[in-house]
Amino acid sequence: MSQDEPGAGGPGPTDGVPPILVVGSVALDSVATPERRVRDVLGGSASYFSLVASLLAPVRVVGVVGEDFPESCRRTLSRRSIDLTGLVTEEGKTFRWSGEYDPDLVGRRTLRTELNVFESFQPKIPQSYRSTPLVFLANIDPDLQASVLDQMSDPQWVFLDTMDFWMEGAKRQSLIGLLDRVDAVLIDHVEARLLSGQSHLQDAVQWIRDRGPKIVVIKRGDCGALARLEDEWFWVPPYPESAVQDPTGAGDSFAGGVLGAMARWGTSGSGLRRALLVGAAAASCAIEAFGAEPIAELSPDEVFRREAVLRRMTEVSEGDPATVARPPAVRSGGA
Ligand code: AMP
Repeated sequence: MSQDEPGAGGPGPTDGVPPILVVGSVALDSVATPERRVRDVLGGSASYFSLVASLLAPVRVVGVVGEDFPESCRRTLSRRSIDLTGLVTEEGKTFRWSGEYDPDLVGRRTLRTELNVFESFQPKIPQSYRSTPLVFLANIDPDLQASVLDQMSDPQWVFLDTMDFWMEGAKRQSLIGLLDRVDAVLIDHVEARLLSGQSHLQDAVQWIRDRGPKIVVIKRGDCGALARLEDEWFWVPPYPESAVQDPTGAGDSFAGGVLGAMARWGTSGSGLRRALLVGAAAASCAIEAFGAEPIAELSPDEVFRREAVLRRMTEVSEGDPATVARPPAVRSGGA
């Protein structure tokens, strides 16, 4: 194992690692849980994604904020290797979202969505970003996601995130049309059923794959994720010892870990499976504090410690007695 592999002493600097482009929201979130409420903390899909992915790879952000976006949040985002050239500041207020969690910290209600400067957002990909090999289209209007791809020159990997909001009404056809242009879809299990109209999960996965993406990752919240890779299924367990405080941004942090690991270690052999475990490990860290800002303090070593736990949770060695000494065959029709 080289020093630069997961579990071999941390990731080191990101120089020379292929960059990742993310297009998504940069927000000020207000979150209420039974334990605590916070107001106007750093949030948004692009913030969670880039703070996690930048542990492993250089990240380029395309998004918009208002004139009220706090300098402290900008400083947090520009730490590590996050390039904010594509984060524009427009006249007006920053996008704000507020939500409230049930006592189980799984169920959630959106209380308010104030689009503000996000309402007229038209992503413009800076010239210097256009040949970025890995692209994460975070959950925004599918027509805007398509306009991002129109501006890119042949990326190697395109991952798409989306949500129920775009699956009904006018945007549904835009979203379905986009599937043919992406390599992978990250989607919640309820939303996969809604998008496909299929009640069985494997039929929903097949429905999505029939429209283009070879990889479909079904997120199941605190139950982990089920991934259909090119020619195999893979189960991503949830990290079982997470001290959950605020689950906001779990999906975007998961994506940040997956693409960060793919950029850093590639996808050959078990690379993609390892990347999914890194994603789950990173998401379990991100939900242990409110807002995205604490991720800036996250140690890559802690992510890799958890990734190793996830690996062990599903490992069965060749030498296990159950494999070596097979139980005797049951005879049928005998005395
Ligand atoms: P998640 O918990 O993975 O669903 O991500 C929650 C994050 O998405 C929060 O930080 C919000 O600021 C952001 N968000 C919520 N609604 C939207 C929306 N309609 N468009 C873009 N970002 C959103």
